[in-house]
Amino acid sequence: MLKKFYKIRIFQQPNPKQNIFIFLYDHQYFPIQKIRLFGIIGKNRVRWSSITLIAVLRLGHRINRDKRVTTHVALVARAFGADKIFITTRDKKIEDNIKSVCRKFGGKFEIETGVNEKKLIGQWRGTVVHLTMYGVRLDDAMKKLDKNKDVLVVVGSEKVSSDIYQLADFNVSIGNQPHSEVAALAIFLDRYTNGEWQKKQFNDGKIKIIPTEKGKKVIQKNKIPLFSEKKLKTEALFVDVKMTSIPDPEKCIELLREKGCSNEVIRHCIAVRNIAVKIAEKAGADVKLVEAGALLHDIGRSKTHGIMHGIEGAKIAKEMGLPDSIIKIIERHIGAGIPETEAKKLGLPPKDYIPQTLEEKIVAHADNLVDNYKKQDIKKEIEKALKKGQKKYAKRLLQLHKELSRICGIDLDSII
Ligand code: SAM
Repeated sequence: MLKKFYKIRIFQQPNPKQNIFIFLYDHQYFPIQKIRLFGIIGKNRVRWSSITLIAVLRLGHRINRDKRVTTHVALVARAFGADKIFITTRDKKIEDNIKSVCRKFGGKFEIETGVNEKKLIGQWRGTVVHLTMYGVRLDDAMKKLDKNKDVLVVVGSEKVSSDIYQLADFNVSIGNQPHSEVAALAIFLDRYTNGEWQKKQFNDGKIKIIPTEKGKKVIQKNKIPLFSEKKLKTEALFVDVKMTSIPDPEKCIELLREKGCSNEVIRHCIAVRNIAVKIAEKAGADVKLVEAGALLHDIGRSKTHGIMHGIEGAKIAKEMGLPDSIIKIIERHIGAGIPETEAKKLGLPPKDYIPQTLEEKIVAHADNLVDNYKKQDIKKEIEKALKKGQKKYAKRLLQLHKELSRICGIDLDSII
C-alpha cells in the first residue's frame, strides 16, 4: 500500500515579525522560521523524520575550548537526522564550517548561533529533551516520547544550569555514567528515529560517497573523473552529470524547482503522480517510470502554459539527459495525445503525439483525472472538451479511459 501524507505545519518562529513563506515540497527540510507543507511520496520515502522537526540545542559552547566538540555535535546532528542546530554562543566560524560541509555533502541542515536558550525552549512548540546522565533511562523515556511532535534535543558542555532540568519535558540519560554529548546525541537520535536517520537524503552536494568494501569511491557532481583511492591501479570512470537513469521522486521535485516551476505546478504534478502510481500498480506498469514521468510531466510549464508545454518539457528533459522513456511521457502527455493532423493545425511541430507505451498512457490519463490538484471523474473532462467543441479529443479521452480501466480491471473513476 502506498502511503501519502500532506501535512501543513507551522514551526517554531522565534521572531514573529519575520516574513513567513509557504512552500510546497517533498520531504526536504526547511528553515525553521517558515511554514512548510510536506508531500511525502513513494512508499520507500515515507520517513519518520520527514514529518517532524528535530533540532538540537548546544548549551554553553566555549569558542576556543569546545570548537571541536561543538563541531562534532553539529555534524552528528546533521548526519543522524536532525534538521537544525542552535548554539547558544555566537560563533561565525562554526557556522561557516557546518555550512561548508552542507554545501559539499548536500542535504538541508541549518545552523544558528547566538541563541538564547531559555527563549528558544520557552517558544518551542514540541517536546524538549535534555540529555544528562542524571535523567531517566533512555528506554523509559522512549516509551513516553510523542514522536509526532517536533523535538528539541538539548546537550550541555561543562556545567548545565539547574533551570534546564526544570524547563525540559524530559531529562534523559544514556547510561548513568559521564561520557560525551557527541555520543549521547548519536545514541539518542538513532533510537529516536529507530535507525531511520540512515535513509536521510543528502541531495545537492558537490560530492557523494559510494559505500565500498575497500578504498574510497566518491562521485563528483560534474563531468569529472571518479577515482578509487588507488588511482594508478584503477581506471578512471567518467560520471556524467546527465541523468541517464530514472530520477527518484525527491530529485524530480528538485528538478521542477530548479527549472523554475511554480508551487502550483509542483502541487499539480504531485497530485497527478499520486493517481498515476495507483493506476500503474493496478496495471502492472513500471511504477518508478510512471512516478518520475508523472512528477515531471509538466516541467515545460516553467517555460509556457500553452499547448507547447509538452514539447518544451521534452526539450528540457532531453537537455538534462533524462531517459527517452521520460522524454516521451512528457512530450505525449497532453490530453489523450494529439495526432499529427491536429498537431499541424495547432501549430505544433508536425508529428504524432499519441501516447504509445502503457506508462505514457497512464501519465497522460492521470493528468486527465486531475483538475488542478483534485481528482475528477473522466466525465467532467469529457464535458469540458465537448463544451469547447473538441469532439475528437472527447472521444480519445473516453477511449483511453476505457482501455486503461480494462487493463486495471476496474473503472478508473473508482480507483481513488
Ligand atoms: N557535568 C556536566 C553537567 O552538569 O551536566 C556534564 C558535562 S558532559 C561532558 C557534557 C554533556 O554530555 C552533558 O551536558 C550531556 O548532554 C552529555 N552527557 C554526558 N554523559 C551523558 C549521559 N550519561 N547521558 C546523557 N547525556 C550525557
